[in-house]
Amino acid sequence: MATLVESPGDASRGPRGPHWGPPRTVKRTDSEHEISRAAELLRRGECVAFPTETVYGLGAVATDAKAAARIFSIKGRPRFDPLIVHLASAGDLSTAASAVSERARLLAAALWPGPLTMVLPKRDAIPDIVTAGLPTVALRVPDHAVARALIEATGSPLAAPSANPFGYISPTTAQHVRDQLGEKVAMVVDGGPCRVGIESTIVDLSGERPALLRPGQITRETVEEILGEPLRLGAAGDKPTAPGQLPRHYAPSTRLVLIESVDAVAVGERGRAALLSALPVADRDGFAITRVLSESGDLEEAAAGLFAALRELDRADVSRIYAISIAEDGIGAAIMDRLRRAAAR
Ligand code: AMP
Ligand code: MG
Repeated sequence: MATLVESPGDASRGPRGPHWGPPRTVKRTDSEHEISRAAELLRRGECVAFPTETVYGLGAVATDAKAAARIFSIKGRPRFDPLIVHLASAGDLSTAASAVSERARLLAAALWPGPLTMVLPKRDAIPDIVTAGLPTVALRVPDHAVARALIEATGSPLAAPSANPFGYISPTTAQHVRDQLGEKVAMVVDGGPCRVGIESTIVDLSGERPALLRPGQITRETVEEILGEPLRLGAAGDKPTAPGQLPRHYAPSTRLVLIESVDAVAVGERGRAALLSALPVADRDGFAITRVLSESGDLEEAAAGLFAALRELDRADVSRIYAISIAEDGIGAAIMDRLRRAAAR
């Protein structure tokens, strides 16, 4: 099990007082104790932020409509945007889904625990507020020991969107959550930085043919290979547009502009601009700040660092963030999906 890390700062209250030792020593705490405290808060209807392998989630008991309503108000999330429900194991699928198809079994066996969300017909136990009135529910078993232990300790599936104000960059560390939601959440369980760093791949299995609703680290190609059939793209026509699919999302406050190559930015303008590139880039001179997400060209590494880099560039004193487009194959599709929404106005 992952160890939990207390917020920095706590070290100053240690026995030696504030002037001894490294100023920000983190104290490893007993994760079981933290998890049972978080589970207790959740059972009382509070919202708790917790780590998953994708991003930090803002969790509430999925069968508690009032607790789920709190998630929407804390995030400022529109009520028409359904939440993903997190399960401790694939064996719990039928507690939330009213029918588990052969396709769902195949994907669960191959990819859970992991960053794949499946949309299936919902059980009555899942209140309408969680699914935004849809007859379907989005389900996932996270590949993070702390997340699964928390769900188990709570004794209920947890509805959890990303733990950030609606529309802003998703949090990939506990500190990101504290910076943005602070007092609004009862507790932030710290499980270290998220390994995947971008939200789960979403596959809709509720219709006649499976559809890819959101790209993620698990690629379209991987899902198609397991299912032995192609995925449709996007939601079925009769479904409301859900904000993971809104044109503008995951957005920094500084304007982000997608470019094909650095040549698009005049040399004279570079001093006031930030450059963001998933892959190594040869001509990067003159920019006020540059972030290359993977110097070795590894897209998994690039995805893992994407949101933290966007936050950092958003804090920098620049007038624009220029992000270089990459090929939309495999995880490149997921990275470009996030960048395009961050660039939308
Ligand atoms: P997140 O914001 O990462 O929690 O992901 C929530 C997203 O999952 C929503 O914005 C939708 O795109 C998708 N989603 C959740 N539930 C459903 C559902 N029942 N049908 C279709 N998409 C869903
Ligand atoms: Mg989100």
